[in-house]
Amino acid sequence: MRPSQEIVERDGSDAALQTMALRRRFLIIVIAAGLLWGGVMQIPASLGWAPLGPAQTRNNLMFVAVSIAALLIVWRRPRSFLPVAVAYFACAFLYASAAQFLVVEDELRMLLFFPLVGAIFLIVGSAAAWIAILAAIGVFATASAQGSIRVSPLATSTFVLALGVTGLFFQAFSQQATRALTMIARQNRALDAAAKKDHLTHLLNLRAFREAMQAHVDGLRPDAGFSVAFVDVDHFKSINDRYGHAIGDAVLVALAGTLKAAVRARGEVARIGGEEFAVLLPGADLAEAAPAAERMRAAVAAMQVAAGGATLSVTVSIGLAASRSSFDTIDALLQAADAAMYEAKRGGRNRVALAGAG
Ligand code: GH3
Ligand code: MG
Ligand code: MG
Repeated sequence: MRPSQEIVERDGSDAALQTMALRRRFLIIVIAAGLLWGGVMQIPASLGWAPLGPAQTRNNLMFVAVSIAALLIVWRRPRSFLPVAVAYFACAFLYASAAQFLVVEDELRMLLFFPLVGAIFLIVGSAAAWIAILAAIGVFATASAQGSIRVSPLATSTFVLALGVTGLFFQAFSQQATRALTMIARQNRALDAAAKKDHLTHLLNLRAFREAMQAHVDGLRPDAGFSVAFVDVDHFKSINDRYGHAIGDAVLVALAGTLKAAVRARGEVARIGGEEFAVLLPGADLAEAAPAAERMRAAVAAMQVAAGGATLSVTVSIGLAASRSSFDTIDALLQAADAAMYEAKRGGRNRVALAGAG
């Protein structure tokens, strides 16, 4: 994986990182273009076709060397791109200024500053670019005063005006680009959150639950050991049959609230199927998770849900499995908890069964 990709993919939702990766890519293109240009300028001079003096040749070769160094650094150390960009543009500015002074009476040299200013806007930012515009005008004024270049008042005003317009153009462009990236990042975050949520209960869904489990397995959290409770509503079909699907849904929503309240901040609750829930209990082995599961079971059994004029209650069967047992994948762990849940069903429902308890 290339470094820029790595930055974006580690946190695709972060607008700042995306912008940084984009700016870094711009920088690489600009340096490559500068390198090509400096190199191409040097070829006819080396062959004796172009009248480049020794000072200009030195200037040119120095620029080529700086470009190669900047390219290597920004390629190998992606995070250093901003200081590299600043240093590179400072060198490029010196190069452009020197070129302005070295070729006497060639006002076309002024054109060197335009692409430079645009690149600074896109890569380093507006403040640096406006400073660069003022510096370019300063260099131009100095060269003009010293007689290095001789320009008419019309050319002078055109140069200054064109630099200002270039600045305004890139200012607007980079603002719009940043706004668009920020908006896309915000939408990505919202989509990502929606894709992890169960629409009925607003709990995590199976995908998000598996991600949470995987995060624990990968040891991203300090308390990497954890238990999983598989919760299945007892005889839920009969609730749908007796009271209708809407009341069934209300029971599921109430159940979600009850399970969350029962584990509070100590666990993550997900709805992983129709009337099936899963609870991740971080840092808990089987012995520690069992009382938590029992609390959930009791809380559900005590729950009353309004159904028309009456109230109804439900029970759940819970299967528990712990990650520190012999289950080395999250699928195996979920399956073990599921199997324990069926054990609880067989044992008469409204109870907790532990995986591996026979
Ligand atoms: P058991 O104690 O063996 O688990 O019995 P059960 O009736 O709960 O088991 P079963 O799996 O046969 O039935 C699950 C029912 O859950 C079937 C389905 O109609 C209902 N169901 C699944 N998803 C939803 C939902 O989103 N809303 C409602 N209201 N019912 C659902
Ligand atoms: Mg079921
Ligand atoms: Mg059921």
